[in-house]
This record gives sequence, structure tokens and C-alpha cells, in this order.
Amino acid sequence: MRVLTLGNEILRQKSAPVKNIDGEIRAVIAKMFEILDKNKGVGLAAVQVGIPERFFIIRMGNDAPRVFINPSIIETSEELADYEEGCLSLPGVWGNLKRPKTVRVQAWNENGRPFTMDADRILARVIQHECDHLDGGLFIDKLSALKRERLLNKYEKLKKSKK
Ligand code: ZN
Repeated sequence: MRVLTLGNEILRQKSAPVKNIDGEIRAVIAKMFEILDKNKGVGLAAVQVGIPERFFIIRMGNDAPRVFINPSIIETSEELADYEEGCLSLPGVWGNLKRPKTVRVQAWNENGRPFTMDADRILARVIQHECDHLDGGLFIDKLSALKRERLLNKYEKLKKSKK
């Protein structure tokens, strides 16, 4: 299992709903947390490791790990927050982006239990970012054309320098 990066068409697919929350998905989730930790990320969607199904994981600092299966954002605040955003599928670049400051999300956890969560600040941001992945979205889609071009130029340069 590895993290797919920009240019891989799977990242642009719309993920399908999860049908069964079972041992199989829990094994995938455990592996995804390993990848998240190794890459020092805070969130990872299944589609980013090549599984186009609607779930993602989040772990921020010392907080408990969180799993969101078949999530839907049912409410967003009118108030927006401007914050720097990055993505494990575009390693090395970050861009500032406005999003609703708070969200209410409904999902199932890895044990098949439904929950509703109110999130704000960085957690709200990460949830929105990961939900975008499930519809084939990347945060760069939300940048102005100019900002996106700059960021992509920087990304290409970084990629070349790593080769
Ligand atoms: Zn991402």
C-alpha cells in the first residue's frame, strides 16, 4: 500500500459507498494509520491508497484516531476560515484556502456505529478536505487559477529535484 500522488487518475474517481464494515475494512484502516504516521500526515482517504471507497481516517497530534465511514457533511457554518492546507498526494506544497469554519458530520466508525460530530478549527478543515477526496476532489481545485499554477510549478520542481 502506498500513497498515490497527483496525476494518478484514481484520485479523480468518485468513491463508492462502503457496504460492509467488517474485519477486512478494519485491516485496511490499520494499514492506513501506519502510512499516515510514517508520512506525518493528519488525514488520509482510502482513495489515496488506491481504494475508491467512501472512508477516511484522521489523527491529530495526541488525539485519539478517528475513522469516518460513508460520511456526509450535514451542516456548515456561514463563517469561513482561511488556513494553510496540504495533502499527502501533493507532498511538499501548501496553499491557503477558505472553507467553512465549522461543520457537522455524520458517519459510521470502524465498529459500524453511527455518530454525529461537530467539528471546528483544524479538525473541521481536515474533515472537509478528506470528504472532497471521496468525490475526486483535491484542495488545489479550490485555489484561484493563478495560485494553483504557482503551487503546481513548485510541486513539479520539487518532484524533479527528488529524482
Ligand atoms: Zn488530501
